[in-house]
Amino acid sequence: EFHKSKGQHILKNPLVVQAIVDKAGVKGTDVVLEIGPGTGNLTVKLLEKAKKVIAVELDPRMVLELQRRVQGTPYANNLQIIHGDFMRVELPYFDLCVANIPYNISSPLTFKLLAHRPAFRAAVIMYQHEFAMRLVAKPGDQLYSRLAVNTQLLARTSHLLKVGKNNFRPPPKVDSSVVRIEPRHPPPPVNFLEWDGLVRLCFSRKNKTLGAIFRQANTLQALEANYRMYQALKGTGGGAAAGGGAASAGIQTLGSANDDAMDHDGADEDDGMGDDGDDDDAMTVDGGGGSGRGKGRKGGGRVSPEFKELVMKVLTDNGLDTNRSSKMSQEEFLQLLALFNAAGIHFA
Ligand code: SAM
Repeated sequence: EFHKSKGQHILKNPLVVQAIVDKAGVKGTDVVLEIGPGTGNLTVKLLEKAKKVIAVELDPRMVLELQRRVQGTPYANNLQIIHGDFMRVELPYFDLCVANIPYNISSPLTFKLLAHRPAFRAAVIMYQHEFAMRLVAKPGDQLYSRLAVNTQLLARTSHLLKVGKNNFRPPPKVDSSVVRIEPRHPPPPVNFLEWDGLVRLCFSRKNKTLGAIFRQANTLQALEANYRMYQALKGTGGGAAAGGGAASAGIQTLGSANDDAMDHDGADEDDGMGDDGDDDDAMTVDGGGGSGRGKGRKGGGRVSPEFKELVMKVLTDNGLDTNRSSKMSQEEFLQLLALFNAAGIHFA
């Protein structure tokens, strides 16, 4: 009946549904976005509180079932159903997002919400428990990773409620948790691509010191190539050295090549280098592991001692060389990026 591949685990316990709606703080003036309404257990409770609910649902059978459920009720006119894939639809204006989502798109869904403008007031979302704990992890926590750092750059996150698997039909394999996400506004004035490039690099070996990570030959090579590109662009006077212009001019985003998914911190798992020892154009750069491997590479990849010294000076002058990303706060990452950028060193 239900499609496991679409993440169709229907929330059956009315107490949990009510708790989610209560914690979301829905106002009578709110437009609420729901993702994956399914049969509508959460939708009907939201309709009781909100001015309007806009529900995005992929499965046409669920769309029909939901339409039938609200037909003839006083709320029928307050529900708009968008039939489509959440990741592909253009989002409407909304004040609040409340959803029991399909877990397979947790990470892209979260960043799609956070990129939406104008920013919404809050999102109250059910995630797989471990993913939820990673969203709210703080420096020093076991689950602190690139996901936590990137999310918390853009939003405050807090854990609201743990929900056992038996509250769902059919029960999923793992427990769930509801998280509250409040976008920061205004958002911090950083180039997100560059921020993510730095964070990926720092978390490529999250328990190594920054000094060790930035001393790696392959990291330095990629950084130096970027550095020279920015210098050259600056020379052209086009002001193109920042942002999109630079990206299209061949500047690399640094970080582990195999770690595309934001929900995968990649730390200590994979050196991302594969076995092809001859990729001397180094266009994909592994921030971590491979200790010493880069050094042995032949051709084009020499790092100038002056550049290495520049990078090390940024770290040591500011006492950051002994830091480890697993314990670094948001502010420390921001400071690190600002210091590197001021020295002309870029990550995207
Ligand atoms: N919200 C309902 C509840 O709490 O009972 C059902 C939640 S169920 C975990 C996820 C729902 O998302 C399913 O109805 C599924 O069809 C839908 N869905 C899966 N992938 C989707 C996507 N890419 N875009 C929109 N909806 C999707």
